Amino acid sequence: MLGLMQDQPLLISSLIEFAERHHGDGEIVSRRVEGDIHRYTWADVARRARQVANALEGEDLLFSDRVATLAWNGYRHLELYYGVSGSGRVLHTINPRLHPDQIAWIANHAEDQILCFDLNFLPLVQAVHARCPTVKRWIALCDADKLPADSGIPGLLSYEAWMGDRSTDYAWPRFDENSASSMCYTSGTTGNPKAALYSHRSTLLHAYAAALPDVMGISARDSVLPVVPMFHVNAWGIPYSAALTGCKLVFPGPALDGKSVYELIEAEGVTFAAGVPTVWQMLLTHMKPGGLRFSTLKRTVIGGSACPPAMIHAFQQDYGVDVLHAWGMTEMSPLGTLCTLKNKHLTMPADAQDAIRQKQGRAIFGVDMKIIDGNGAELPWDGKASGDLLVKGPWIVKEYFKGEGGDPLVPDAQGHGWFPTGDVATIDADGFLQITDRSKDVIKSGGEWISSIDIENIAVAHPAVLMAACIGVAHPKWDERPVVAVVKRPGAEVTREELLKFYEGKTAKWQIPDDVLFVEAIPLGATGKILKTRLREQFKDYRLPGL
Ligand code: AMP
Repeated sequence: MLGLMQDQPLLISSLIEFAERHHGDGEIVSRRVEGDIHRYTWADVARRARQVANALEGEDLLFSDRVATLAWNGYRHLELYYGVSGSGRVLHTINPRLHPDQIAWIANHAEDQILCFDLNFLPLVQAVHARCPTVKRWIALCDADKLPADSGIPGLLSYEAWMGDRSTDYAWPRFDENSASSMCYTSGTTGNPKAALYSHRSTLLHAYAAALPDVMGISARDSVLPVVPMFHVNAWGIPYSAALTGCKLVFPGPALDGKSVYELIEAEGVTFAAGVPTVWQMLLTHMKPGGLRFSTLKRTVIGGSACPPAMIHAFQQDYGVDVLHAWGMTEMSPLGTLCTLKNKHLTMPADAQDAIRQKQGRAIFGVDMKIIDGNGAELPWDGKASGDLLVKGPWIVKEYFKGEGGDPLVPDAQGHGWFPTGDVATIDADGFLQITDRSKDVIKSGGEWISSIDIENIAVAHPAVLMAACIGVAHPKWDERPVVAVVKRPGAEVTREELLKFYEGKTAKWQIPDDVLFVEAIPLGATGKILKTRLREQFKDYRLPGL
C-alpha cells in the first residue's frame, strides 16, 4: 500500500517561490565587482530569476543544457542559480582560479551553451572563448553601459540587456526531481577533472539538512555571509538553505581580504559566515593588531581543509564565536560531517570542548560513513583505528558526469555502493570523525586543488628531468603548498630557478611548486607507482624556504 500524501517533486524553483512569498522583503546585499554595495530583496531575486528563465527560453536551449558561470558571489550569480536550474537547465559553476587550458577543457567537456562571467574575468574569457565551440552566447554580468566596446568576443551581451526587459511572469516547469540541476568539476587524482552532477532532489535534501541546528543552524533571524565561493560546490549549499529559511544574505564579491570581509560583517550585522581556513586567517590577521571585535558574528563554519586548532581557539576564546568545523567534498554536495557538541559535552572544561571541536565532526542525517582497512573490513569506532573513509547517501555521487573514471563505488556485502572519499580517518565512540591523512594524490592549497600529476608531468617535460614526484608540505597560511622532488637525467643540468621558470604559463601561477628538491632516487612501490607516503616521510622535517 502506498502512502496517500501529495506527490510533489523536490524542485529548486520551489525554494525561490517560498522565499518570495514568505520572506519577500528579506535583504540580499552584495559587494559588486565594481566595488559598490548593491541591495535588494528575495522578492527581487525571484522576479529577476523569472526574467532569466524567460531569457533562456529565448535561446535555442534544450532541457538539461548547460549554462556556465565564471563569477564571484553576488546577486546576479544568485539569480542564475534559480533561473537556470529552475527552468530545467543545468548550472555549471566554473572555478575561475583554474588555468585557461583547464577552463577551456571543462567548458568543452560540459558542452556549455551559454557562459556568463563577471567583467573582471574578461581577460580569461578572451583567452578561452575561441577554444569553446559549444558556447553560443557569452554574457557579461554587468549593466548595458558597462559592456566593453571592443572585447573581441563575438556577440557579447550584457546581462542586463539580455534579461532586463524580459517578462517577469514565468511558470516554473514541473519535472522529475531527479533531473540534473547543477554541476561542479573537481580535480581528479588521475587524469582530467571530473564533474559531480547534482539533482534537484539531492540539492533540496542537502538544503534541508544544511539548515538544521546541528549543521549550519541557519534561520530567518540570521544574516549569512558565504565567503566560500559560489563556484565551490554551490557555496556549500548556502544559496539554497538561505532561500529555504529566508535569512538575510550578504555576498562579498571579489573582496576576500581581511579588511573587506571584516567591514562587511560589521556593516551588515552578519551572524553566521562560512569559508576555508585561509580566508579566516586573513580576517584574524587583520583584526588582531587593532584589537578589533565582532559585534554580531556568532558562528562560523570552517571547512574545505583542516581548521588549525589555534584558529578554533582564537575564534572561541578570544572572540566568542563558535567554530563549526566541517568536512565534505564536491562529490557530497558538499556536507558530510559538522562538529557541534552533544549535550553531555556542555559541562566539560573549555579545553576539552576545544579538543572535540578540532575533529571534523558528526555525520549529518543522510550521510552514512564507515572506515575500512586494506582488506575492506570495517574498522571500529574507537577514535584510534584509522582507515579509508567511505560514504553513502542521497546527496553523494554515484558516478561522475559522462561516466568519467568508471564506477567509483565500492559495494558492501549487501550490494550497497559506497563512495571512497580518498580521505583517511578515525571515528570515535560518539561518532566524531577525524581526518588523519589523505590517500588521494592531490594537494589542497588555500582551499583549492593542485593536481600533483599535472605538476609532475610539467617537470618531466623538461629535458633535464628524468623523474618527478610532487608532494604537499605544511604551510601556515595556505595549509599546504606543493614541492616537487626531481631526479635529473644522467649528465643533464637544471637549477631550481630554471625549473620553476619552466612552469610559468603551463599552469596557474598559484599552482607552481614552492620548491624543487633534487634527489638521487624517488621511492617506487612494487607496481612501479611512486610511493608518496615514503617520500612524505623522507621530507617530514623539510621546511619551505622563508618559513
Ligand atoms: P573539495 O571537493 O574541493 O570540497 O575537497 C574535498 C576534500 O577536501 C576532502 O576529501 C578532504 O580531503 C579535504 N577536506 C575538506 N574539508 C576538510 C576538513 N575539515 N579537514 C580536512 N580535510 C578536509
